[in-house]
Amino acid sequence: MSIEAFDIAVVGGGLHGLSAALHLARAGRRVTVIERRWTGRHASGATAAGVRTLNRDIAEVPISLEAMAMWHRIAEIVGDDCGFHARGQVNVAERDEHMPALLQREAKMRALGHSHEELVDAKELRRLVPALSPHCVGALVARRDGAADPHRTILAFRRACEAEGVVIAEGCGVEAVDRQGPDWLLACGDRRFRAPVVVNAAGAWAARLAALFGDDIALGVRASMMIVTERLAPLLDPVVSVVGRALSFKQSDQGTLVIGGGLQGAADLDRESSTVNFSELAKGARASSDLFPAVHGVRIARCWTGIEAQTRDRLPVIGASPNAPGLFHAFGFSGHGFQLVPVVGSILAELVVEGHTRREIAAFAPQRLMQARAAA
Ligand SMILES: Cc1cc2nc3c(=O)[nH]c(=O)nc-3n(C[C@H](O)[C@H](O)[C@H](O)COP(=O)(O)OP(=O)(O)OC[C@H]3O[C@@H](n4cnc5c(N)ncnc54)[C@H](O)[C@@H]3O)c2cc1C
Repeated sequence: MSIEAFDIAVVGGGLHGLSAALHLARAGRRVTVIERRWTGRHASGATAAGVRTLNRDIAEVPISLEAMAMWHRIAEIVGDDCGFHARGQVNVAERDEHMPALLQREAKMRALGHSHEELVDAKELRRLVPALSPHCVGALVARRDGAADPHRTILAFRRACEAEGVVIAEGCGVEAVDRQGPDWLLACGDRRFRAPVVVNAAGAWAARLAALFGDDIALGVRASMMIVTERLAPLLDPVVSVVGRALSFKQSDQGTLVIGGGLQGAADLDRESSTVNFSELAKGARASSDLFPAVHGVRIARCWTGIEAQTRDRLPVIGASPNAPGLFHAFGFSGHGFQLVPVVGSILAELVVEGHTRREIAAFAPQRLMQARAAA
């Protein structure tokens, strides 16, 4: 059996795998992306594609801001604008008692030297989102945030990878791993790949892949649900979320309303599938019509779920394996990894090529979840 040899094998053809492959190929490495189904099959193809710095965990803020700067020049990076529009993200307070938390958040961010989150009053909120119900009292706003088109983004990253010579192997699930001298040997059905460096970007299945290399990482799973409606006349520009409710609400370029916010269906990792929980999903529909009176009676065209990995602290796992030489992890984005795609690929390229990164990633170390499991 012939063995396909590369400098780096990226396992997982979601956006994080493609972004890592792109940056590594641009650093002069021979790279393959090994994907069990097809690029974008799971979370990256199911995502709401919100590009949000607003309300990020403090540990994620520096890389999220860097990612946002990259989104603002995404066409230079991948040759397409990915349907990205910076029309802002708005976190709405429905009642006066929600405002102190927003005020505290803004003050905390300013104390840390960040000015991208801004508190606005009811008047400015109504100017930003005229369709919003008049009962809303204020909001936290990130004006440079926005949203992209997930499928255009996948295609753009994939084409950019191929233009750099990345070999994309679809229909190839890594089932077994072995050591061959300085290299890892990856067995995928009747194909074999060899590389001294492996990037684990296997999304919801990343802990299973890590286990093949001897890394025991505690990882949960989520199955976020989405609704898309029939097309409407222009209703709103920014992406709207609401304090205390699982709602993210936006309008696509085509006019459809795209409604998510993290309501959960059921995931089945063995069958690589997930199912919608309609009574849960109804909460999202109800919240939408509470916030936007014009939504009453609008027809739902489709709903779906997507599977992805979730860590206990909702922070991603980004970094070198402490046990397996040449293994680098990038997963566990816990429902908000789309925005981080451009920067995480760049971080991985630095880690692999230079052995360290100038970015602050200590909070994302895989060890934190390995220790947690050992102590449990
Ligand atoms: C419904 C939904 C809405 C979301 N909304 C947002 C949002 O608005 N903003 C935001 O920032 N983020 C959002 N996210 C999160 C974001 O989409 C994900 O964090 C991101 O897409 C994860 O990309 P990934 O490449 O890590 O994973 P995936 O896209 O899941 O890719 C992992 C890939 O690995 C492959 N794989 C697994 N095991 C193997 C193996 N053994 N061998 C080969 N291949 C393997 C899988 O087939 C899969 O294609 C949302 C996610 C969902 C599901």
